[in-house]
Amino acid sequence: MTAKKAKRTPEQGEQAMIEGILEGSPDGVGVAVIRLNCDCRKMAAVNIDGEPASKIIMYRDQAESICDQCKQDNGDYMRVTEQFIHWKKPEPGEAARKKIEAKVLGTSEERPN
Ligand SMILES: [Zn+2]
Repeated sequence: MTAKKAKRTPEQGEQAMIEGILEGSPDGVGVAVIRLNCDCRKMAAVNIDGEPASKIIMYRDQAESICDQCKQDNGDYMRVTEQFIHWKKPEPGEAARKKIEAKVLGTSEERPN
């Protein structure tokens, strides 16, 4: 391969991981992505009920393994810098997305009921 492409970004690596996880998780409607302050990522597919639809995968972009800190604390939530769900197309409806987000990401937004 001689053709040089535009520089690969961590987001592209993340996107590739997401696609791979979704491919391996037929029940997955999306992938929860948790970015840590050390640049490692934690990801897992979730199903329509907000339950895990895959193992939790931890990885560090363009590295063979996660960092030492993550090996120690397993990506402690205190070090989370960003978390969101990447939805598979077609996305679930808004109500379903909200419900899953609340369950998976633990947002304390008001619940219906
Ligand atoms: Zn790390």
